[in-house]
Amino acid sequence: MYNMNWMQDKIRGCLIGGAAGDALGYSVEFMSYGQILSKYGPHGITRYDLADGVAQISDDTQMTLYTANGLLIDDIQAAYLEWYRTQTGEYSPTADAKCWISNLPALYSRRAPGCTCMSALQNIKCGVPVCNNSKGCGGIMRVAPIGIYGALHRWDLAKTARMACDATCMTHKHPLGWISAGEFAVVIQSLLELGEESYKVCLEDPNNLGDMLSSCSLAVMAYLKTDVDDSKIKDLYMDFADGVSNALHLAGTDIKEADAIRQIGEGWTGEEAYYIAIYAMFKHLRNPEQAIIAAVNHSGDSDSTGAVTGNLVGALHGYDALPDHFKRNLELHDVILKMADGLYITQ
Ligand SMILES: [Mg+2]
Repeated sequence: MYNMNWMQDKIRGCLIGGAAGDALGYSVEFMSYGQILSKYGPHGITRYDLADGVAQISDDTQMTLYTANGLLIDDIQAAYLEWYRTQTGEYSPTADAKCWISNLPALYSRRAPGCTCMSALQNIKCGVPVCNNSKGCGGIMRVAPIGIYGALHRWDLAKTARMACDATCMTHKHPLGWISAGEFAVVIQSLLELGEESYKVCLEDPNNLGDMLSSCSLAVMAYLKTDVDDSKIKDLYMDFADGVSNALHLAGTDIKEADAIRQIGEGWTGEEAYYIAIYAMFKHLRNPEQAIIAAVNHSGDSDSTGAVTGNLVGALHGYDALPDHFKRNLELHDVILKMADGLYITQ
């Protein structure tokens, strides 16, 4: 049994860490690694690049908040449709909003929303089937709250996998788009469930945290076996597991971070975003700030790799362990904390 204040701090850390990685990476989302170094110096971007005094979050954090609110109203699809409305219309006080965050004018802002999410939600809104073969990272970057909810409500890990896969498959139909999200949510839950002693043990030896990842993998395989039962998807999962192993291997080498991440990919897809996040967390196992910085300084989808990494390291280390400069000036900081606490009190 864990201390409840400990759990609350880790839930806050998961959501604020994700928003911090999103905001740090959003400034460099469409820049090459060379362009990042040219603009921010040899260490890349390490502090927020403020816009009018604010570290802007992107669609990753917006959609994460809507997943969280969707869990609170027990209707994630309805929540995503309300996010879609924030991207396609102006704010107006709406009496019919199901999500409390839909009453916040600050959410009505387009921050490079993913095309797959936008077109899929337009179809859902119009009652048209969603047909694509996307494995973009627009699925994984939004489902951390499902792991949080699973931890709070003591869900079986296979159930958490199913919930996250279903929430992602609404918009992303390629199996690697939703399998990566399922595994990510399961890992978030497992990180949150680490008690204080287990946390210390994991920091002492990365192999202990690696063992936890293996347990998560078994839970996802159990879900695939019972709910999916498709040999092609199981084969894809084996490839995915190999990618995770490669990321763990790279984290244990002296290969320069940017070179290691280049070997992994650019994070535009769900599985690559996950590999980069796992690499960054293990590379900087005791330092969430450096993990987030490592995750955004590359030529790929920096805001999403930052967000996914921030969710992971925030869930591992908690809110108090995140640096103050990642909390100051962070857009919607207080809204995100309110959402974290709103999830916490539902247990
Ligand atoms: Mg984004």
